[in-house]
Amino acid sequence: MDLKLLPTSTQVKSSSNNNLLESPNLTFSSTICTDTLPAVRGKIVKQAELAPFTWFRVGGPADVLFLPEDEADLATFLKGIDPAVPVTPIGVGSNLLVRDGGLEGVVVRLGRNFAQVEARANNEIYAGAAALDAQVAKVAAQNGIAGLEFYRGVPGTIGGAIVMNAGCYGAETKDVLVEAYALNRAGERVTLSLAEMGYAYRHSDPQDLIYVGALYRGTADTVEAVTERMDAITARRETTQPIREKTGGSTFKNPEGHSAWKLVDEAGWRGKRFGGAKFSELHANFMINADNATAADLEGLGDTVRAEVKQKFGIDLHWEIKRIGRR
Ligand SMILES: Cc1cc2nc3c(=O)[nH]c(=O)nc-3n(C[C@H](O)[C@H](O)[C@H](O)COP(=O)(O)OP(=O)(O)OC[C@H]3O[C@@H](n4cnc5c(N)ncnc54)[C@H](O)[C@@H]3O)c2cc1C
Repeated sequence: MDLKLLPTSTQVKSSSNNNLLESPNLTFSSTICTDTLPAVRGKIVKQAELAPFTWFRVGGPADVLFLPEDEADLATFLKGIDPAVPVTPIGVGSNLLVRDGGLEGVVVRLGRNFAQVEARANNEIYAGAAALDAQVAKVAAQNGIAGLEFYRGVPGTIGGAIVMNAGCYGAETKDVLVEAYALNRAGERVTLSLAEMGYAYRHSDPQDLIYVGALYRGTADTVEAVTERMDAITARRETTQPIREKTGGSTFKNPEGHSAWKLVDEAGWRGKRFGGAKFSELHANFMINADNATAADLEGLGDTVRAEVKQKFGIDLHWEIKRIGRR
């Protein structure tokens, strides 16, 4: 992300000094109030609009947005910040619905110094948490490493993929992840084995971590064969998903033995409007900001559909999209 493109309301300049001293007006709109934030080399933006950082393009501002310069900078910040202040990492917001009231505390978004992708011996790939999944798939293909083709179909970052156990077309993060690297709230680096991730369908166990990278292992294949499979995924998505819309991908997890899109469709919600929101005509489990929707429109639509599906079919739909922030 080019920092010049930051959607600032008030930008606090980066400084090696305590940059809060340069912005005496910093107050959180939340009940949690911090007079000082740690001195950092990265950027701090107060009342930072988050909508441009999410695929849905909705939602209110973060009290504070922090863009760390690098891992050491992030560690310094986490060591120094009041543990009572909520800290929320975000990737590219492809699975996020930020509510209209914005987000309490600090949002952390990792930049290019966390986006390294590197093929290693034994069919391994290291990827920084800010690297795009698609880029990781491409590097794997270029190096004849099979198993990560599915990442071409997930439009998020590695950080989001680690948390969500992202996957498609029969493959998931858990199939290729060796270990994940993170900083905890105390700013300490921790390594999590695959077993420690507690992976299930679109779920991981660990909480309160900011992932900084992951190590993957695939299997050897020819560059041509891996590239062909990856390209097939690209082509398939183009025709089956509304990937150019303001969407959050699959809205609900597939309930055991059912397809969420079928339930939404059979409940009569494919293409039907709710404020500025609707479920896609192309893929009935993809919710879309069709016409200046608010986060309340989108969440209201989702909850209405959940209630109707429960009433009509007795089946519970669970949100896959993470809804965060104040209503
Ligand atoms: C068009 C479209 C198609 C999609 N198709 C698929 C699909 O096929 N398969 C699939 O699994 N998903 C799919 N998704 C959903 C989404 O792309 C994935 O969930 C993705 O992994 C989210 O990554 P992100 O970087 O956008 O994370 P975000 O949406 O920004 O965040 C998601 C969660 O991860 C956390 N998080 C993000 N980065 C970090 C970090 N560094 N450390 C700790 N926590 C972090 C956030 O706090 C949040 O809880 C799709 C989405 C869209 C819009």
